[in-house]
Amino acid sequence: MNVKRTIIKAGKVLWEEHLVTSHSGNISVREGDFVYITNTGTKLGFLEESDISTVPIQAGRNEYPFISSEWDIHRGLYLNTKRTVIIHAHPPCTVTLSLNYEKIEAIDYEGKISFKIAPVIENLEDRKKLLESLLDKFENYKIVVIRGHGTFTLTDSIEEAIFLTSSLEFSSKVLIFNAIFNKKL
Ligand SMILES: [Zn+2]
Repeated sequence: MNVKRTIIKAGKVLWEEHLVTSHSGNISVREGDFVYITNTGTKLGFLEESDISTVPIQAGRNEYPFISSEWDIHRGLYLNTKRTVIIHAHPPCTVTLSLNYEKIEAIDYEGKISFKIAPVIENLEDRKKLLESLLDKFENYKIVVIRGHGTFTLTDSIEEAIFLTSSLEFSSKVLIFNAIFNKKL
C-alpha cells in the first residue's frame, strides 16, 4: 500500500477511536530525504490524498505553509533519530491524567505489555525546548504525553504508532475508572 493510503487509514482509526478531535492531530512518515505529512486543518478521519504533502526533510514551514503546524517537531525528531513514523493525537483521558501526573503507568494487562509507562512533559512554548524535551524522553520511550495537550509517538511502523496511542488511552480510561471505583476522585 502506498504511503498516502496508509496515512489515510491511520487517520480514520484515530478518529473512530476518539483519539483526535475533528481537526486535531497530525501524522507523518519519513521516506529517505522526504516526509509525507498531513496538511494543517485537515480532518484526520476523512483524509484525501490531497490533504497529505510530500516535503523535503530540510525544508522550513515558510516554504510549505499549508502543512501541519507541528512540522518543526516532526522534522526535528526525524533529523535527530532513525525512526520513520510520527503520530500526534489528542486522546481525552490521557490528556486528563497528564494534568495531574508526571507519568502515566499502566495498571491493566495490555498497557503493561505495550507502552508500560508514558512520561509526561511540560507544554513548553519555546519550540526548540519542547523538541529537546521530546528527544530526551524518546531515548527510552516510544510514546510521550505533552501536559494538557496530547501524545506524540516516534516509531518505525504506523501500526505500532496507532497501537501505542490506542493502548495508552485505554489504560488511561482504566486508571480513571479504577480511581472512581475506589472513590479516589
Ligand atoms: Zn496538538
